[in-house]
Amino acid sequence: MSGAYTESLNRLIEEFGKLPGIGAKTAERLAFHVLKAQPDEAMGLARAITDVKNNIKRCEICYNYSEQATCQICSDSRRDKSLICVVEQPKDVISLEKTGACKWVYHVLGGHIAPLEGIEPGDLTIDQLVERVRAADVREVIMATNPNMAGDGTTLYISSLLRNVGVRITRLARGLPTGSSIEYASGKILTDAIMGRQELE
Ligand SMILES: [Zn+2]
Repeated sequence: MSGAYTESLNRLIEEFGKLPGIGAKTAERLAFHVLKAQPDEAMGLARAITDVKNNIKRCEICYNYSEQATCQICSDSRRDKSLICVVEQPKDVISLEKTGACKWVYHVLGGHIAPLEGIEPGDLTIDQLVERVRAADVREVIMATNPNMAGDGTTLYISSLLRNVGVRITRLARGLPTGSSIEYASGKILTDAIMGRQELE
């Protein structure tokens, strides 16, 4: 950090530099943009950051992000609550919703099982999922974890638990390239994967 900048400016450059995909040069450019911006614009950015941290919590049904106790999808009466699509992250919900092909509700696990990274089943919302399927009239659980080793392992673990509950378990068709992720799949590939979902053996 250059001594030519004031302390506050240095701090802002440092904070921008922590953001993903932002190098030192870009961090500097953004900080100068904020410095020169109208007070309204700069404060709007500060407020948006504060609001995101203060207002967003987890939906108490599906664990997706929400500003209310229950998220918009869970509150939507047009959704088929008997179909639960299980994903790893909130970003996956966004990718699937963009296809326009989903009339179901979701369950967000909060990641995948990865013992080597210290992520055990108890760190995810797996118990809550099993409880949810047990308590409600659920016809089908659609597993939409990422098509890689960790995602597949997580799906196998969950399906072994759900088998005792006696619900139909499917997973997205394998049009998704192995090793890829839901987040970065194209809308066309995702729609095909949703339409062609298969019974989990
Ligand atoms: Zn929800």
